[in-house]
Amino acid sequence: MQTILHWFRRDLRITDNTALHEAATRGQRLVPVYVLDPAQLAREDLGAASLTFGLKSLESLRANLEALGHRLIVRHGSPHEELPKLAREVDAAAVLANREYEPGWVATDRKVASALYAAGIGFELFKDRVVRDGSELLTGQGKPYTVFTPYSKAWRTHPIAAPVSKLKRAVNPVPQTVHSEPVPRDSASLGHPCPHAIPPAGEHAALEALKAFLKGPVYQYDRARDFPAEATGTSRLSPHLNWGTVGIRTVMSRLQTARAEAPPGGERGCIVWETELIWREFYSQILASFPHVATSCFRPEYAALKWEGTDAWFEAWCAGRTGFPIVDSAMRCLNATGIMHNRLRMIVAMFLTKDLLISWQRGERYFMHRLLDADLAANSGGWQWSAGCGTDAAPYFRIFNPTTQGLKFDPDGQFVREWVPELRSLPADLIHEPWSNPVLTASTGYPRPIVDHGVQRNRCLAMFQAVKGKPAAGETE
Ligand SMILES: Cc1cc2nc3c(=O)[nH]c(=O)nc-3n(C[C@H](O)[C@H](O)[C@H](O)COP(=O)(O)OP(=O)(O)OC[C@H]3O[C@@H](n4cnc5c(N)ncnc54)[C@H](O)[C@@H]3O)c2cc1C
Repeated sequence: MQTILHWFRRDLRITDNTALHEAATRGQRLVPVYVLDPAQLAREDLGAASLTFGLKSLESLRANLEALGHRLIVRHGSPHEELPKLAREVDAAAVLANREYEPGWVATDRKVASALYAAGIGFELFKDRVVRDGSELLTGQGKPYTVFTPYSKAWRTHPIAAPVSKLKRAVNPVPQTVHSEPVPRDSASLGHPCPHAIPPAGEHAALEALKAFLKGPVYQYDRARDFPAEATGTSRLSPHLNWGTVGIRTVMSRLQTARAEAPPGGERGCIVWETELIWREFYSQILASFPHVATSCFRPEYAALKWEGTDAWFEAWCAGRTGFPIVDSAMRCLNATGIMHNRLRMIVAMFLTKDLLISWQRGERYFMHRLLDADLAANSGGWQWSAGCGTDAAPYFRIFNPTTQGLKFDPDGQFVREWVPELRSLPADLIHEPWSNPVLTASTGYPRPIVDHGVQRNRCLAMFQAVKGKPAAGETE
C-alpha cells in the first residue's frame, strides 16, 4: 500500500488544498501531519495573536479531518528530524507540502529535502498559497517585477486555476498505534500568552466571512474601504489567507461569480478588491525574489538613513499616546484586538517613520508582534511602501498629515471616539485637533502632540535628501 504524508504548514484546510489533494490521490493511505517546530516558535517576530489564530485553526482542521475519518498526527520537533522519522514509521514513499516563500521556510525546506532524500523518501512542493508565484510572471527582460502596475496588468492576462476539490473520506486511516501529540490548547501553553480575544478561526469561519463579504459589501468596497469606522468596509479575511483556512483559488472563483452577478455600480468594487489580492501576490513574490526585504530596505541606499527619533517617541507611538487622535486610536485598537485597518496602517507607519523619524524596522517588528494577520511579506512590503524605501513605494517626499488624514477618513470622529475615550465628548470639529481648543481639552487627560508635524516634515525631508539628493523640479507634493 502506497502511503503519502501531507505536511500542513500555513494551509490549514481540507478544501482547495493542492498538495493535500495530490497526496490523497496518489497514495492509498494519507498521513496528515503538523510539526510544531521549536525554531518557528522561537522566531523573534512571532506574535501571540497570530499564533493563537493559527492554533485555533489547527484544532478546527483536526476536527474537520476527524469528521472524514482521517487522523491528524501532531509532532513536536524539527521538521528535518520529525518528518523522516514519521515517514519511516508509516512506511511512506513521499512527503508533500505546499510551497512557502519566506526565507526561514525556504531554509527549513532545504534541510527537510536533504534529510528525506538521504532516507530514500520523496519530497515535493506545490504552488498553492498564491495564484502566481515568482517564476511565473517575469518582465520582458526575464526579471521579477518590482513595480506593481505592470505586475498587476501581467497578472490579469493569465487565467486563474479552478479550486481543488475537497478531501474525501479516509479509506485507510492512520492506525491508532501511530503516536500523536494533542493540538496545544492555546498560545500561552507555548509561552506566548495572548492578552485579548480572537475572532472565529478555521475553515468554516473563513468561508462564512468570504460569503458575507461577497454577498454585498464587496460591491461598495471601492467607496468604503478607506473608512475605518465602516464595520463591513473590508473583508477581514487576512488572518484566514495567512493561515490558509481558505484557498486563494476559492476566493478568486467566488469573486468572479460575485462580479458576474454585480448590481449596477457594483462591479468596480469587485475589481478594486481583486487588486488588493494582487498586492498580496506582489509582495509574496518580492519576498521570494529579494529575501533581503525581510529585514532591510529594498533599495540599499536607504540603509544609510540616519533615523533621529527617540525611544520615548517610540513608546508613545506603541501606547497610543502621541497626541494625534487618529494615530492613537489606531494603535490602541491594535493593542486591544490585534486588528488594524489598512488606511490606519499607512497613517501610523508614515507617522512613525516620517514624523517621529524612527526606522520602519522597529514599527514592522511591533506590528509582527501584535497583528492577528501578521505576515512577513505583506508587512515588510507595507512598511517599506509607507517609509518610501521599498518597491514601488510612496515617494519619500509624500508625507501624510495625520490631522488631515483623520478629518478625511474619520470625518465625524466615530473611530477616534471608540478608541480614545478621553476625547469622546468633543465635537466633531475638534476631535482630530484637540490642541486647537486647550480650554475645552485641558481636563481630558489626553496628551498634547509630542511633535510638531510641520517641523518634523522638514527634518524628514532633510534626512532623506542627505541620502537621496533633492527631488527633481515638479516632483515634490
Ligand atoms: C504598514 C502595513 C503593514 C501591513 N501588514 C500586513 C500584514 O502583516 N499582514 C497582512 O496580511 N497584510 C498587511 N498589510 C496589508 C493590509 O493592511 C491588510 O492585508 C488588510 O488591512 C487586511 O484587511 P482585510 O482582510 O479586511 O483586507 P481587504 O481590504 O478585504 O483585502 C483583501 C485581502 O487582500 C490582501 N491585501 C489587502 N491589502 C493589501 C496590501 N496592501 N498588501 C498586501 N496584501 C493586501 C489581504 O490578504 C486582504 O485580506 C499591511 C499594510 C501596511 C500599510
